[in-house]
Amino acid sequence: MAKSAFDSGKSLIYTNESIPLLLRTNLFHMAVTSTGFNLGLWVPAGRAWDLLEGGFTKILKGLLSKRFKGETYYKLPAPAIHILTETPPLASFARKARLSLLTAMCWTAPDLLWAALQMDDDWNATIRADLEWLRSGSDQWPDLQQASWPRWHHLLKESAGWVKRKVATKITKEFGHFGREQLTLLALWSLYKRACERWPVLSEDVAPWVCRICCRAVKTKAALGAHFFKTHGRLAAYRRVTGGTVCRACGRNYWSRTRLAIHLRDSPSCTSVLHTLEATSDPFTCGLGSKGWRMAAERDFTLAIPEQQVAALDHNCERRWPEEVKRAYCAACDCLTERRVDESVPVFKRTLLEVLADFPLYYVEVREILDEIEADVRLVVDSGSNDYWTPEGAAQLLEAVRTFSAEDWTSGVELGDTPPKFATLKAFTTMVRDLNWASLLGCSGTHVTLRDASVLLDDDWEAAWDRPSEVVGNAAVRCDFWGVLPGALQKAWDLILDGHKPTVQQGLGSGFLLQQRRQHQRRQD
Ligand SMILES: [Zn+2]
Ligand SMILES: [Zn+2]
Ligand SMILES: [Zn+2]
Ligand SMILES: [Zn+2]
Repeated sequence: MAKSAFDSGKSLIYTNESIPLLLRTNLFHMAVTSTGFNLGLWVPAGRAWDLLEGGFTKILKGLLSKRFKGETYYKLPAPAIHILTETPPLASFARKARLSLLTAMCWTAPDLLWAALQMDDDWNATIRADLEWLRSGSDQWPDLQQASWPRWHHLLKESAGWVKRKVATKITKEFGHFGREQLTLLALWSLYKRACERWPVLSEDVAPWVCRICCRAVKTKAALGAHFFKTHGRLAAYRRVTGGTVCRACGRNYWSRTRLAIHLRDSPSCTSVLHTLEATSDPFTCGLGSKGWRMAAERDFTLAIPEQQVAALDHNCERRWPEEVKRAYCAACDCLTERRVDESVPVFKRTLLEVLADFPLYYVEVREILDEIEADVRLVVDSGSNDYWTPEGAAQLLEAVRTFSAEDWTSGVELGDTPPKFATLKAFTTMVRDLNWASLLGCSGTHVTLRDASVLLDDDWEAAWDRPSEVVGNAAVRCDFWGVLPGALQKAWDLILDGHKPTVQQGLGSGFLLQQRRQHQRRQD
C-alpha cells in the first residue's frame, strides 16, 4: 500500500529535485505513513517486521534516487538513508502509532478489545516497553506497577494532546541521538575499511609486506621500509640523494632540508633523476623524525613556499634500481645460468625464491627483476646464443618467471589472520565493540616514532556533526563514507597507518602554520 502511494506520486513529487528534500519527505510522510498498515498493531520483531521495516527504508531511498547515482545510491546504508531524509526508522513511527492506539482505546475501546489485547503477550510487552521508554529520564509519569494503571488511563484519556506532544518531542530527541550515533559508526566503519586496505593481501597487484630474509610479514609498506633499514641496512632510495634545499631534478627550492627530503620521499621520479647525477656536496642523512631531523627542521623553519629556481631536468631517464635490487638481479642471473638437470617450472621457482630471499626486497621489485629476467631470456633465445638451457628448459624458465606470484614470494611466511571484512554497516555495527583495533593497526609492525607529526583539529567539526544529514550528504559521494571524518582526523589516521604517532591538537580557529610560527619564535627568544 505504501509502495503504491509512493509510486503514484513518484515522478511528480518524490523524486523531483526542484522540490526541497525536506518538503518532499514531509509529503511522503503524510502519504505513506498515513496509509498506515495498522502500524500500531504490529509487534516490531520477526521476519515479517524486518521486511516491513526494510521496505519502508527502501521507499525512503527512492526519494534520494536523483541525488545519488550508481553504486553510491545502491550502497547507501539504511541509517544513512534515514539521516539524509531526516526521517526516523519505522520503529519510531510504530511506537507512536501504538501509543496513539492505546490513547484511542482509553476513550472508546469495548471491554472485549481490552480482553483480546490482554491475551497478546507480545503486544503487551511491547506497549509496556513503550511506556517505559516514555517514562525514562522524566518524573512526570506514573510507574509501571499494576496499581498505577488507573493513573495512566486517566493521563492518556484526559491529557491526550500533552501526551502526544511528549511522544513527538521524545522521538525527535531520539532521532537526534540516532543521527550522531550512526555518524560515529559510519566514521568508525570508514576508519576500519581504510585500515583494512593497508593490510597485507595476497594478490598480484597488492604487494604483501614481507621480509624474506627474516620470513616475517609486517602490515604496512612503511613498517617494511623501517625493518629493511634497521635490520638489513637498506636505506630508502631518497635518503641517498637528499641534501641542501634545492631539488636538482625538478629545479625547485624547498628552502629547508627536511622539506626537500619529504619532497624526494614523495617523488620517486625526482629521486631516480638525482641518482643519475653526481652525489650532492652536502648530504643530509638524518632519518625522518630523528633528533638530527628535528634540529634541521627547527633551524631551517620557513613559511616560504617552494620556488622554481632552475629549469627541471629532462625526464626521459629510465628508472634506476636501488643497489639491493641490482645485486639481487645479478645473483639471480648467475644462478639461473648454471647448468641443471631438472629444468622444470617448480625447480626454477624454488631457485628464484632461494636466491632472491637473501635480499631485502619489496615484492614489486621482485616482479621488476623477474620481468627483466624474462626479457633477458627471450633476448638470449631469440638471438640464437642460448648455451644455458635446453629449448624445453628455456620455455619452462620463462613460464616460471612469468607465473612467479605473490603467493610464491610469501610461501612459508606466517601472514597472520586477516581482519574480518564487513560488507554492510549493519554487520559492522554488531561487531564494533569486539574489534581489535590494536592488532588491526599492527602495533608490532613499526617502532619508528615521529613525534613531530601533528594535526590541528578545528572546533567547527563538532558543530557540523550536529547536522548529520549535511555531513552524510557530503560524504556519501564516496561509498566508503571517508568524508564523514574531519580532514584533520583523516590525515591523522593516514599518519597512524603509516606507522607514525601523530598528536591531535584542538584548534582555536588559528591556522596551524601560524601556531607553529609562534612556537618557533618563542623558542628562539
Ligand atoms: Zn628482515
Ligand atoms: Zn623534485
Ligand atoms: Zn625520470
Ligand atoms: Zn649478472
